[in-house]
Amino acid sequence: MILVIGGGFSGVYIAKRLGATLISPHDYLEYTPGILRLFGPKDSSLLTIPFSKIGIEHVCATVTKVDETHVYFGKKKMGYDTLIICTGAKFREPVSGNKVFSLYNIKDVFNAKKGLNKLRSVGIVGGGLVGVETAAELAHYHPHLDITIYDKNMCKQLCKGSRSYIKSWLKKQGIKNKREYVVSTDFHDRYFVCAGIVPNTSFLPSAWLDNNGYVKVNDYLQVSNNVYAAGDIISSNAHKTAQNAELQAKIICSNLLGKNKKYKIENGVIITSLGPYNAVFEYKGFMLKGLFPAILKWLIERIVLWRYK
Ligand SMILES: Cc1cc2nc3c(=O)[nH]c(=O)nc-3n(C[C@H](O)[C@H](O)[C@H](O)COP(=O)(O)OP(=O)(O)OC[C@H]3O[C@@H](n4cnc5c(N)ncnc54)[C@H](O)[C@@H]3O)c2cc1C
Repeated sequence: MILVIGGGFSGVYIAKRLGATLISPHDYLEYTPGILRLFGPKDSSLLTIPFSKIGIEHVCATVTKVDETHVYFGKKKMGYDTLIICTGAKFREPVSGNKVFSLYNIKDVFNAKKGLNKLRSVGIVGGGLVGVETAAELAHYHPHLDITIYDKNMCKQLCKGSRSYIKSWLKKQGIKNKREYVVSTDFHDRYFVCAGIVPNTSFLPSAWLDNNGYVKVNDYLQVSNNVYAAGDIISSNAHKTAQNAELQAKIICSNLLGKNKKYKIENGVIITSLGPYNAVFEYKGFMLKGLFPAILKWLIERIVLWRYK
């Protein structure tokens, strides 16, 4: 029996390819890279595919414990011969309270969107790619908002050219950047946290985890002989992206199908959206900006979702 935990990019890919049973609290795959567009009028059904359409066997549950032989949820347990853990991550919350909203899935974005038209100012905690994309969507769909991104070093994973284009574009939209960390929620009406991630691994044996809670894997993405892990949860220097989650999923499938493939980090293309009609494409220092990368990002969304069906 092959069990997969977590119905995101890596888990769904593996469950489909290996015909494994997938344990997930929801019965659909969602296209996380597109969810911030839901700050506008986009229909969320365009970003999800039900597992029934993908054709995978699904157990609806949140796993609360795992050991060397079983997976536990509620009062039930399931035995496994091979286990693949793909439970992703969530955003760290450097501040908390009822003004603070996370943005890791569609439900989060719908919560964060409620009542925005009555608010005046918002703070974005973290100026990574998600923080910048959030600010850009808000500026486009909710132009009445006064938006401030808090980060000492915005978009640090991008090259100098992309960073300076993004910074000047944000400035033109009236989006402010404060080079400080947020320690209180007194200043804005609402805060969106996207300042680094924590892996969803609290239900795993501590011996499987590194000091930061990520799952330790070898070059073959194995935790032990019959346990594997992929995606945002693994202890690796690879960027935490959907592309990398899928690449790791492919390696695990190949290894379980008898090949002996090592995982090699490949950090691919990054496309940062600046609202619906502008984006910055970057690959190995090459950069392209404007409408074309925005169209490309949308095309990738449609192709990836179509491939999972
Ligand atoms: C707003 C946003 C924009 C992004 N944009 C991009 C982008 O443009 N390009 C890109 O490549 N990447 C992007 N990413 C990152 C990308 O979405 C993640 O790297 C990718 O989803 C990781 O895939 P995964 O399979 O590890 O986990 P996920 O896709 O996060 O899936 C994990 C699943 O596990 C489930 N789960 C968690 N705990 C349990 C449990 N105990 N039991 C059962 N199930 C559980 C969760 O419900 C979830 O469905 C973005 C992320 C965000 C939040």
